[in-house]
Amino acid sequence: MPLKERISAFDGLDITPEQREILEAIREFVDREVIPVAKELEARDEFPTKIVEGLRDMGAFGMRIPAEYGGLGLDLVTYALVIAELTRGWMAVSGIVNGQYIVSGMIGAHGTDGQKQNYLPRLAVGEIRSCFSMTEPDAGSDVQAIRTIARREGDEFVIDGNKMWVTNGDRASLIALLVKTDPDADPRHTGMTALLVEKEALVAQQNGLTVSPPLGKLGYHGVESVEFAFEEFRVPVSAVLGGEEMIGKGFYQMMSGIETGRINVAARGLGISLRALELSLEYAQQRSAFGKPIGHHQLIQKKITDMATRIEASKHLILAAAKKKDSGQRADIEAGMAKLYATETCQRCAEEAMRIFGGYGYSTEYEVERLYRDAPLMMIGEGSNEIQETIIAKGLLKRHELI
Ligand SMILES: Cc1cc2nc3c(=O)[nH]c(=O)nc-3n(C[C@H](O)[C@H](O)[C@H](O)COP(=O)(O)OP(=O)(O)OC[C@H]3O[C@@H](n4cnc5c(N)ncnc54)[C@H](O)[C@@H]3O)c2cc1C
Repeated sequence: MPLKERISAFDGLDITPEQREILEAIREFVDREVIPVAKELEARDEFPTKIVEGLRDMGAFGMRIPAEYGGLGLDLVTYALVIAELTRGWMAVSGIVNGQYIVSGMIGAHGTDGQKQNYLPRLAVGEIRSCFSMTEPDAGSDVQAIRTIARREGDEFVIDGNKMWVTNGDRASLIALLVKTDPDADPRHTGMTALLVEKEALVAQQNGLTVSPPLGKLGYHGVESVEFAFEEFRVPVSAVLGGEEMIGKGFYQMMSGIETGRINVAARGLGISLRALELSLEYAQQRSAFGKPIGHHQLIQKKITDMATRIEASKHLILAAAKKKDSGQRADIEAGMAKLYATETCQRCAEEAMRIFGGYGYSTEYEVERLYRDAPLMMIGEGSNEIQETIIAKGLLKRHELI
């Protein structure tokens, strides 16, 4: 039974009529096209083709791409709220959009004119899909420890190495790939380069690239995460993001997008929390124990209060970080705080929802078990929360140094 007053990422916030119009359209799409089918698709780990077509028609793949390249050119605040609303429906859906967003953001910020003209219009309309590949079997948080090498031979780079956990990697035909072009460089990051690598979508073996079958995952079903094995895979030197003079600048290019990436993950955490609260409020009024709805028991009320208060706090941390970033200022501490808080909150909300649902929360018949499986990834991805904790403290100590 629906709630009289809905739970949303944006109601009650000071947003413009244009922002509200976009968010209402996304909200309506999620309620109509995502929530009714997510459970079945997720259980089958099935790619949501129809949902993706709908998102494409709405221009969702080009949300952050400037209008001159065919995108919607949305500000980060609107984008974050859109991501929260999409995740409220199903985390896989925002994960599918996210690959596009990270790569188009990198091309927009660092690409040559030619790379922008070549890729952005096609990314904006979802004609091609993209993925972002940094992590390796032996290097995740310690990005500078990657071992995939691109060796220069004339006008080409020859790539050898293995990449792990590439989300959207099978369906993508463009990879933003971080490699070592000088493995002996000191400091290590000066030997790292970002390449725009073209591949065939949905082809497992091609010219020195093997794409694994989808990796088994606790949650985040519906969107594939794969391994890449490169063996003598050749790309032209023109594949260097930003052109030849950006060889050795890949680490900086990848990291420059990380603040927005963290706001994005924070927003996904918020989306999960919103859904957990929404379902909990419904259930607490429908389920009775000891002669009254469980929502009338004070310990259940405490859970609801805790969830709702943390959700409000998450929203405002996300908004503060997004507004600061939108204004052109550095927002590393704020984005880290938003990511840390909103994703720890989503884990907590998913668990509280499961407790409120009792045994049914553990049943695959109910949505909360999916939230419980999806939530932990938000604490790991885009810089684990342990890494956020170190970044926030280091940033504060630097920002507030003694005179
Ligand atoms: C489903 C899924 C999808 C993903 N999609 C992508 C993708 O599309 N592209 C991509 O490049 N990567 C992707 N990743 C990888 C993800 O970004 C990494 O898993 C993450 O960065 C953590 O790296 P790791 O797994 O190697 O853990 P490790 O770096 O080995 O960390 C292990 C543990 O040690 C902790 N730790 C590490 N260093 C420190 C430190 N200095 N201080 C305190 N604690 C520390 C970590 O917080 C963690 O708890 C994905 C991962 C998953 C699971």
